[in-house]
Amino acid sequence: MDHDEPTKRPIGLPPESGAPPDPVDVPWIDAHQHTQSLTWNDREKFDLSGGEAAVMIAAGYYWTPYRPVRPEHVRFLWDDALRRAAAFTHRHFYDQYVAVGVHTWSHVEDADELLAALPEYCDHDRVVAVGETGIESTHHTSQWPLDGQRDVVREQMHVARETGLPVLVHTPGSSKGDVDPRESHSYEEGNRNFTEPLLDAETAKRDAVEMDVELADEAGLADEQVVIDHVDGDVVPYLMETTNCRLSFTVGAPWLRGVDARDVADAVEEYGPDRILVDTDLIGAMRCDPFAMKRTILDLLRLGVPREDVRKVVYENPKAVLDLRHSVRAAKASSSAVSQWVSRSSSETSAG
Ligand SMILES: [Zn+2]
Repeated sequence: MDHDEPTKRPIGLPPESGAPPDPVDVPWIDAHQHTQSLTWNDREKFDLSGGEAAVMIAAGYYWTPYRPVRPEHVRFLWDDALRRAAAFTHRHFYDQYVAVGVHTWSHVEDADELLAALPEYCDHDRVVAVGETGIESTHHTSQWPLDGQRDVVREQMHVARETGLPVLVHTPGSSKGDVDPRESHSYEEGNRNFTEPLLDAETAKRDAVEMDVELADEAGLADEQVVIDHVDGDVVPYLMETTNCRLSFTVGAPWLRGVDARDVADAVEEYGPDRILVDTDLIGAMRCDPFAMKRTILDLLRLGVPREDVRKVVYENPKAVLDLRHSVRAAKASSSAVSQWVSRSSSETSAG
C-alpha cells in the first residue's frame, strides 16, 4: 500500500488532519458604506454576518437631481440619512451611524451654507464622523477646481477638530471615468458623466492624499482623527512612514478598486495592525457584496493573519476611531429594559 489510509486507493485527504478551525466569532464595524442605497435584504446580511455597526455616508450625489449641486440638495441627503438610520437601527440588529459632510465628487455651489450648519449636525447622537470628503480629480458632470475643493475640505477638517470627530477622507482612483470596459456594465454610471481629470491619472491618489494631509495640518487636526480611505499600494508606505493617520482599505468592490484581503494582509504584516481599518464603501449603484466584511475576515484568517490582528482591523480600530463606546443600541436596550420594567410593575400594581 503506497498510502497511510485503509482505503483501497488514495482519496486525497488534506495534508494534516486535526481539529477544524475555531468558529469565526469576529464581529465587524464598517466605517464607510452608502447604506441608504442598499436594500433590507442587504442589511439583513449585516445582521447575519456579525455586523455590529455601520456608518452611512449621508451625502451621495447620485441622488441629487441637478448639477451643480445646491446646498439644499445636500441638506436633504443629510436629513434623509438621519431619518433612515433610525429606521435601520430599529429593524435590524446592528447599529446604524451616519457621517455628515460635503463630498467633493461634484461641484457644490455656496458650500459655505452647509459648512455653517455642519457643527450642529456633528452634535447629533448618530453622527460619528465628518465625511466623506477629500481632494478628487474627476467629477460627476460639474467640475470643482482644486482651490475650491481645498477650502471646503480644510473647513471640514476644522469642524472635525472643533467637534472631536474623525474625518473620512475620500481619495481618487476608484476608476471613476476609466472603468475597465469589461466591467463597466457592473456600474450604473459606467464611464459616463465624468469631467476631465484635474490630476495626472498615474499619480492622482498620491497627489490628492498629500494635499489632504497638508489640509489636515493647516486645520490643526490631529493625524489620529484622519482616516485616509480607499488606500492602496501607491499611498500606504507614504502614509505609514510619514504620518500617523489611520488607513482604511475598501474591500467592497475589488473588481473596481483592485483591493482585497491580500492587500490588507500585506499591510498588517509590514506595518502591524494598529492603524489599519477595513471598510466596504458598499453602494447600490454598482455590483457589490453585502457579505464583503465577513468574507474579508475569512480571507484574512485563511491568509494566516493572526485572529487578534483581524479583529483589530475590522472591529477594534473602527470602534476606537469612531468612538462607539456609547452605542445607540446600548442606549436603546437600557431604555427599553426600563420601559418593560415600568409597564410590568404598573400592571402588577393594578393586578394587586
Ligand atoms: Zn463612498
